[in-house]
Amino acid sequence: MIKLAVIGDPIAHSLSPVVHSTVLDELGIEHSYEKLLVTKDELTDFLKKGCKSLAGFSLTMPHKKACMPHLDFIDDDAQLLGSVNTVKVQENKLLGFNTDGNGFLHALKNKGFDCKDKNIVIFGAGGVVSTVALKLAMAGAKQIVILNRTLSSAQTVAENVLEKTGKKIIFDSLTLDNMSEYCKHCDLVVNGTPLGMEGVDANFEDFSFLKSLKSSSLVFDLIYKPSQTKLLNHASSLGLETLNGLGMLIFQGLIADELFLERELDFAYLNKKVEDKLKNL
Ligand code: NAP
Repeated sequence: MIKLAVIGDPIAHSLSPVVHSTVLDELGIEHSYEKLLVTKDELTDFLKKGCKSLAGFSLTMPHKKACMPHLDFIDDDAQLLGSVNTVKVQENKLLGFNTDGNGFLHALKNKGFDCKDKNIVIFGAGGVVSTVALKLAMAGAKQIVILNRTLSSAQTVAENVLEKTGKKIIFDSLTLDNMSEYCKHCDLVVNGTPLGMEGVDANFEDFSFLKSLKSSSLVFDLIYKPSQTKLLNHASSLGLETLNGLGMLIFQGLIADELFLERELDFAYLNKKVEDKLKNL
């Protein structure tokens, strides 16, 4: 029997139990997987005592950075990304990993997209974009452009990527003119803003920038609820390739499960199983 959990605040919305329980059910592994509401104030106590009966746990907001000083080991990717989303509990020690970045790259690979030498435009400059931009730079992207409402946040992400990888990236404001201009030469557009997400009123006001894209371009919306955002609908109607955020969510979970179980998993098979499960929710 393996005991796992996801911690965060809020936590009710988390799809992690569905992802991990589907995988463990498919593998025939007896398990429990709990959603645990752990507030900022409760984190230290949870890491010192509460988590010790678990084999591992996932972390979401607001704990991804805050947990780091309390861990016994932090792997290279988590050090580089400056956040931990997976902790394995081993012989009373806490080992931290970050599977978000590789989950993102896996989702692209699964779609048949190779980032090497590609021109990429990213909308947003928050937590997920700081991870994605670093991983794209490390995967050999030719040009990365970050467009964000608040220019200073885009600059911060660009400076972090330069410092950690030596890759210079372009940053600018998220205006329709800039979106249209930068999309002209781009192979991949990533939406890393919550524009179009369920429960968020705001959306892109104008989708005409999509017309600047080459017919071979891929539009990747990191949102997974709804699975088909307005952005993806417009892109599909123009004949562009599209991808939603479910793949990233599932692959980061599969990579975490490999760490918890210490074995290689059949990603193609399990991704399909989890996808089917999430579609039927
Ligand atoms: P975050 O840290 O809060 O960053 C949000 C970003 O979106 C900021 O750059 C913000 O710009 C921008 N933004 C917010 N509202 C906007 C608006 N009305 N107009 C223009 N820009 C706006 O959030 P995050 O954690 O990076 O998450 C961003 C999105 O990625 C969410 O939709 C989330 O669901 C998705 N995500 C998906 C996965 C996955 O596994 N598929 C994982 C993580 C996140 P400012 O800097 O100007 O505030």
